[in-house]
Amino acid sequence: MSRLSDRGPILCRALLIDLDGTLYPADHPIVAHVDELMNRYVQSKLGLDPERADFLRVSYTQQYGTLARGLQERHDLDPLEAYEVCCNHIDARGFLQPDPAARAALAGLPHRKVLFSNATRPYCERVLEALGLTGAFEALFTMESSGYRGKPDPETFRAAAELAGHKPPEIAVVDDSPGNVRAARALGFRTVLVGSGDAEHAERTIRAIADLPDAVAFG
Ligand SMILES: [Mg+2]
Repeated sequence: MSRLSDRGPILCRALLIDLDGTLYPADHPIVAHVDELMNRYVQSKLGLDPERADFLRVSYTQQYGTLARGLQERHDLDPLEAYEVCCNHIDARGFLQPDPAARAALAGLPHRKVLFSNATRPYCERVLEALGLTGAFEALFTMESSGYRGKPDPETFRAAAELAGHKPPEIAVVDDSPGNVRAARALGFRTVLVGSGDAEHAERTIRAIADLPDAVAFG
């Protein structure tokens, strides 16, 4: 059911836009590839079988916001080592192609646009480059920016809003995660869900980032 047909776009001045699952589809093979690399890292670092490693990766991410923080809090591990090993040097161009429609959609929106990701900055930069979106954002708010807390921690949202330069009601959070959308809405942000997740807390839903101009306007 379209949520756009009977309501106009959200008026806002800044956009906090997620990366994985938002700038490219959530079921893309790069996601499973990174998850598998992370599982192998956890498995070897903690001496676990593959199933237990997968369980811990998912549960730490849910519990602590990022796997980095879970590994730091629970195992006293360097929070960034897993990402340095698994993500920071990923061949993103081997997985993703430039997306001219996404670039045009973002370029046509006069809002201040901040990439807002729970991933590391080197990984984000590689994925943006592969998608042809380098320079499409005025600023990047990455895992390092939040001290590895990530979304949906409220402090992370507040710090990202500060980087966006506006108060939450003037900012739309654009994300494929229903949990992040719910957290953003509770903090007073405007919300756009990308993809087919549970849209209960989203004010607008779009199929892909190229459709963002249907959901938001400057004002
Ligand atoms: Mg995402």
